Amino acid sequence: MRGTVYKSTGSWYQVKAENGEFYDCRIKGKFRIKGIKSTNPVAVGDKVEFDLEEISEQTQGVIKKISDRDNYIIRRSVNLSKQTHIIAANIDQVFLMVTLNNPPTFTTFIDRFLVTAEAYHVKAVLLFNKIDTYNDDELLEIKFLAKMYREIGYECVGISAKSGRNVDKVKEMMLGKTSMFSGHSGTGKSTLINALEPSLNLKTLEISEQHKQGQHTTTFAEMFDLSFDARIIDTPGIKGFGVVDIEKEELGDYFPEFFELKQDCKFHNCLHLNEPKCAVKDALDDGEIPWSRYKSYLQIIEGEDDPYRIDQYKK
Ligand code: GDP
Ligand code: ZN
Repeated sequence: MRGTVYKSTGSWYQVKAENGEFYDCRIKGKFRIKGIKSTNPVAVGDKVEFDLEEISEQTQGVIKKISDRDNYIIRRSVNLSKQTHIIAANIDQVFLMVTLNNPPTFTTFIDRFLVTAEAYHVKAVLLFNKIDTYNDDELLEIKFLAKMYREIGYECVGISAKSGRNVDKVKEMMLGKTSMFSGHSGTGKSTLINALEPSLNLKTLEISEQHKQGQHTTTFAEMFDLSFDARIIDTPGIKGFGVVDIEKEELGDYFPEFFELKQDCKFHNCLHLNEPKCAVKDALDDGEIPWSRYKSYLQIIEGEDDPYRIDQYKK
């Protein structure tokens, strides 16, 4: 049988088969996935093949095969620094909830998030929430930001999770897909999920991170079906979007507008810092690249605030 992992507890996996039924599955044998040393062989979102076995009058599944992943996001294991834990796999898109104030979301945070998404090969969408609360100046700022990020290639939607404005647009973008929601606490993730799916019990869905501080970190991601052919992955206890190690030399590849220009830099390994004839610096001087993006690039490359650990970034 084939199915998708909806929940993982470490030793048991809840798998939704193609027939719509859920089965408790375990793993037999060892799985090694090329390139990653992870503490868990199977993660939420994984597509698996399994057999049903009758064990003491109970039917249980045994996972035999894991399909190649389109992408996956990881967390560094707490005890074993070289090991990673796969949080989730096969994610179609991640929505970043952004608010100008209450709480403020800074462009450096947005950019670090986008870099992580690029490195993970997960499509990122920016949702500018609480547009019902902004004055004219603030709305102009949102427009400016949205225009800037759209030009780089990221979809942006201004929404109000509270009033329902453009929530339909988000819904449409979610159709047929597996989505994640990220963003600072208080930006309105739970409110949006509630607006999308009023019947979903948010007591079980810990999108809101308020009561997570100080809790043990061995909570597991879980996938939920929504009523309108969409799935969301919730990652309780995991701040942000996981970690990814990025080498200085590859950072520029995760700024799409820099990547486009790189071939015009004099040096093929140009870091766009002080090298002569750098196409990125030229574009910056000509106003073709926003300063805020370059500033974020510098912050990350200079290692300020341990930027590679985007999950530890606190507002
Ligand atoms: P989360 O921590 O990201 O899940 O944020 P919540 O959904 O708990 O929202 C935090 C606060 O912002 C709550 O008081 C919400 O009522 C409020 N809020 C969320 N979305 C909106 C919105 O679009 N407009 C306004 N005015 N308030 C909102
Ligand atoms: Zn350069």
